[in-house]
Amino acid sequence: MDFSAAVERQRAFFLSGATRPLAFRLEQLDRLHQALAAREPECLAALQADLRKSAAESYATEIGFLLSEIRHATRRLPAWMAPQRRRIPLAAWPARASLQPEPYGVALVIGPWNYPLQLAIAPLAGAIAAGNCAIVKPSEFAPRTADLIARLLAATFPEDYVAAVLGGQETSEALLREKFDSIFFTGSTRVGRIVMAAAAQHLTPVTLELGGKCPCIVCADAPLDTAARRIVWGKFMNAGQTCVAPDFVLVDRCARTALVETMKQALRDFYGDDPRHSPDFGRIVNVRHFRRLAGYLDRGRIAHGGQQDESDLFIAPTLLTDVSPDDPVMQEEIFGPILPVLDFDTLDDVFRLLRDRPTPLAFYLFSKDRAIQERVLASIRSGGACINDTISHILGKDLPFGGLGDSGIGAYHGRASFDCFTHWRSVLRRPFAFDPRWRYPPPRVSLPALKRALRFLLGG
Ligand code: NAD
Repeated sequence: MDFSAAVERQRAFFLSGATRPLAFRLEQLDRLHQALAAREPECLAALQADLRKSAAESYATEIGFLLSEIRHATRRLPAWMAPQRRRIPLAAWPARASLQPEPYGVALVIGPWNYPLQLAIAPLAGAIAAGNCAIVKPSEFAPRTADLIARLLAATFPEDYVAAVLGGQETSEALLREKFDSIFFTGSTRVGRIVMAAAAQHLTPVTLELGGKCPCIVCADAPLDTAARRIVWGKFMNAGQTCVAPDFVLVDRCARTALVETMKQALRDFYGDDPRHSPDFGRIVNVRHFRRLAGYLDRGRIAHGGQQDESDLFIAPTLLTDVSPDDPVMQEEIFGPILPVLDFDTLDDVFRLLRDRPTPLAFYLFSKDRAIQERVLASIRSGGACINDTISHILGKDLPFGGLGDSGIGAYHGRASFDCFTHWRSVLRRPFAFDPRWRYPPPRVSLPALKRALRFLLGG
C-alpha cells in the first residue's frame, strides 16, 4: 500500500466535512457495533488461535468490552459533541465564548498483541466518535486477529475513511514517517519512545498507552483469602500478558506464608491441579517471549507451578519467592504467568524500593486501614490504582485509563476516548456593535489608571 496516498485520500475525505455531523458518526459507530457482534464466533476463534483465550475471557475482555464501549459512546455522543459555554471577562463584552470540539483529522492507531482486538478497536471507536478518519495497524504477533480486524474494517468502512494496514515493525516505521494529525499507540515503553520521536517530526499529538511493572502491596490487616483471589485473578488472566496485571507482590513479612498458601489454593480453584488442561488458562504468545519468561525461573524459589512446555508455549501459573529486588525478574516488566512475592517490614521499605523505579501503569494495595490507603496513595506515583482489588479500575467508563511517566501519556475509555481524539477549540464571537475607542492605540489614560481599569475589566 502507498501510505502517503492512503493518508492523503483520508485527509481529503476528512476535509470534505463528511465525518463531522453527529448523524454520520452515530451511523459509523452502529456499523462497527454490528460488524463486531456479527463476527463474534470469528473473533472468539481468532483469539483462541493467537493466545488460547477461552470464550468467556475473550468475550469479557475483548468483544463484550468493545460492544459496551461503543454503545456508551453512541448514547453519550450528542452530549459530548455539544459546545461548552465559557465565561469571558468584561474586557471582551459583549462577546460570547465557547469550547467547540474539533476532530483532529487523520488518526493512526497502532495496537499490541495481548488484547489484540480490544486495543485496536477501542481507540478506533474513540477516533470515529470524535469525527476522525483512521488507519489501524494491529500487531503482527496476533496474526489471526490482525487478519480478522483487516477484513472486518474493509467490509464495514470505505478505505478513504477507515483502513487497516497489516505488518510489523517496518510497516509501523513507514506509517510513522507520514504526517498524521493524531497518533494513538499501545505497546512497550521502548517503542513508545520511538513513536513519540517520529511524531515530533510532524508535531503530531500522541497518546501513548505503555507498560511497566505494577506493584501489588498486601498489608497484614487485609483479609488474605479475598486478597489472594483478586491478585491471582488479575495476574493470571491471559496467562499474565496484561499491561495492568500485578507484576509483583510486596507483602508484610508476617503475612507472607499465609498469602502464598492462599494464592496456591486460589490457583488450584481457578485452573485445577494441572493448569495445562484447563480451558481457562492461556498460552504465551510466541517462542521468544516463552524463552524470556523461562529464564526468570533460574533465580528464586518456585513456591508453586514452574512447569513449562515450549512446544505448547505453556508456562504454569508460578509463584516465585526468595527473589531479590536486583534479580532480572524484578528489573523488566514480566508480562507472563510468573508472580514474584517479596516481603517488607515497614511501608517505608516499600516506598524506598519503588521510589527510583519507573512510574507504573497502576498499583494495587490491599489494606482495610484508611490511613494506610491514603499514605500509600500519597507516596506512590502511578497512572491508576485500585484499593483492595486489581485491574478493575479500567472498567469504569468515567475513569480515564492511562499511564504516567514511563507508563504513558494521555488516557482513554468512555468520554476520555472522545477527548483524546478531539481538539477543544476556544471560540469567541463578538458582534460588530459597541467598539470602544479605549482598546486601540494610542492609550488615552495614564499607566496607573490603565492598571486599575484592567483589574476591573479582566477580573481574576
Ligand atoms: P510493542 O511495543 O513491541 O509493539 C506494539 C506495536 O508497535 C506493534 O503493532 C508493533 O508492530 C509496533 N512496533 C514494534 N516495533 C516498532 C518500531 N520500532 N517502530 C514502530 N512500531 C513498532 O508491544 P507488544 O509487545 O505488542 O505489547 C506489549 C507491551 O504493550 C507491554 O509493555 C504492555 O505492558 C504494553 N501494553 C500496554 C497497554 C496499555 O493500555 N497501557 C495495553 C496492552 C499492552
